[in-house]
Amino acid sequence: MTADCIILDSHIMTPKGVMERNIVIDDGKIVDFTTDIPQCDKKINARGLVAIPGLIDTHVHYGVYSPIEEAAKTESRAAALGGVTTMMRMLRLGHSYKTHLQAQLAASKSSHYVDYSIHATIFDASQADEMKYITENGITSFKLYMNLGGEVGHVYMDMDPGSSDLFESHVQLETDTIRKVLANAAHLGCPVLVHAEDYQMCECGIKKAKENKKDGLPAWSESRPPDSEAKSIKKVCEIAREYGTTVYFVHIGSAVALDAIEQERKKGTKVLVETCPHYLTLSYEKQSGYLAKVMPPIRSSSDKEKIWNAISQKQINTIGTDHVANQLKLKVRDDVWSSLAGFPGIGTLLPILLSEGVNKNRINLTQLVELTSTNAAKIFGMFPQKGVLQKNSDADITLINLKKEQKVSADFFGAFSDYIVYEGWNLKGWPQTTMVRGNLVTENMQVVGKPGYGQLVKRSLG
Ligand SMILES: [Zn+2]
Repeated sequence: MTADCIILDSHIMTPKGVMERNIVIDDGKIVDFTTDIPQCDKKINARGLVAIPGLIDTHVHYGVYSPIEEAAKTESRAAALGGVTTMMRMLRLGHSYKTHLQAQLAASKSSHYVDYSIHATIFDASQADEMKYITENGITSFKLYMNLGGEVGHVYMDMDPGSSDLFESHVQLETDTIRKVLANAAHLGCPVLVHAEDYQMCECGIKKAKENKKDGLPAWSESRPPDSEAKSIKKVCEIAREYGTTVYFVHIGSAVALDAIEQERKKGTKVLVETCPHYLTLSYEKQSGYLAKVMPPIRSSSDKEKIWNAISQKQINTIGTDHVANQLKLKVRDDVWSSLAGFPGIGTLLPILLSEGVNKNRINLTQLVELTSTNAAKIFGMFPQKGVLQKNSDADITLINLKKEQKVSADFFGAFSDYIVYEGWNLKGWPQTTMVRGNLVTENMQVVGKPGYGQLVKRSLG
């Protein structure tokens, strides 16, 4: 038998530690680890590189500012260059899922360079009634936005495929809807992703800050205080405990939110926690301008240190990017209040964690793999197909060069966004080659794959 491909001489990150072997790949799967070189069609020399399971970005917004058939091309290209092999879309549908989900799925099919999966946002009771239908279409996780309501209920939904019109909407998340979603999700065996900020506290904070003519990222953080996260966390967890629902808190970046979660965990709530690279690298003290405006806001440098610390204490399960594919013309306005929240980050996820985490000894490679791949695969029903380098798993492999130094530039990733918050940062540690199901999508930091290769990942229920 001749295998499709062999990766030679890399240091392989396995669940049991580092292994020095060749990786034999056939039919999209890892079939063997060898010391010799069997018959293979393709040989990849990976001497000096580390092979890790391809990253799973748990939290990606694309299809909001450009339609999904275009956004999937631009953003999954950036994903591949950043070593991400599965991207999880945060779908916000402003319609019924029964009438509009199929069009979104169809438009996604021919445009991804890497594999993808979807979380379905539930905004109201009628969408909550469609949760079973949604799971029958391979989407087995749901999202709740606790920050939407009152005067701060404005949101951009995902565009309709084929259209380039922004889809503006207003959402009022009712407690009854929260209850229904948590109950249904428990019944279906799906986790619920929660954006935890109390909309009433944010509404009030923003009003006050504007009255006092405040501006800038410190004011933005003050207007949406960590206490609003804690309040929302408490509220959701109380209901989740009633039904036994697993709650996954997205983008946790403040010490107060972390403490609130720890307390709920002690009460027996099934809780999982995601943080994002920006909460590990940016603070309102250091960032000027409005580019780093995001919800929840970036916090103080002391919060930043606490998040690193929480990682080593195993209080954090995953690192997702909260990538938003938007552009400067919409992003930056006259003040922080009218500027758009969110920024791109899928391409820099791995380089940031290698440079600021691994190469500065804040995390080791085993932790990196767990936080960016293995845990996500387990939580979202993709393990052991994804998230691990072992026999019979998908050959989703990222080869990293820990010594490579390169400056960040938006141009390099070629995504929809014309900026990046890390522009000009000199990062040490970059992905060199990205493979999805045995085929190269990037090689030596160049895209060699094709849009349409990426597939919707089949997920099992928890
Ligand atoms: Zn998000």
